Amino acid sequence: MRIRDWFFKQRSGREGTAAGPAPSAAKSGVQYFEVPVTATDRFLCSDNECPCPGTEALVPGKTGFLFISSAVVEMRKDARSQAEIKAKLERIRQTLHGADSKSAIVWDVGTTRPIFVCRQGAERLRLNLATAAQDANMWVETSRCPLRPTPKV
Ligand SMILES: [Zn+2]
Repeated sequence: MRIRDWFFKQRSGREGTAAGPAPSAAKSGVQYFEVPVTATDRFLCSDNECPCPGTEALVPGKTGFLFISSAVVEMRKDARSQAEIKAKLERIRQTLHGADSKSAIVWDVGTTRPIFVCRQGAERLRLNLATAAQDANMWVETSRCPLRPTPKV
């Protein structure tokens, strides 16, 4: 079973939820999740499906865009901080492999954090470029991303 299928199965079978309304809910109704920008981020196109070489350094908000998939929103809606998503992934790992196991899970790109893409990739995904550019800016400036899928054109 693919991890994502397993994940959604777990969610749909779950009774009730410990996660109440987020205290950080903004007045606008948009909520956010934390995605640290690390020093090693070189702002390359990280969409494996994109036909570009992926070697060109992109400028977030100008030539670099953020793709927030519905799968990421689903994964992060009850794990918005970096600590929460780490704990959640560890819980899933232990459920799959056992608490004593050292086996790691390799998560697909874009499962736990948005995918940073070049313009070609953003157009191929039919993203709303203005929003995807704004989201990229917000990410690099605040290490936060909106908790909703990137709108499509
Ligand atoms: Zn690309």
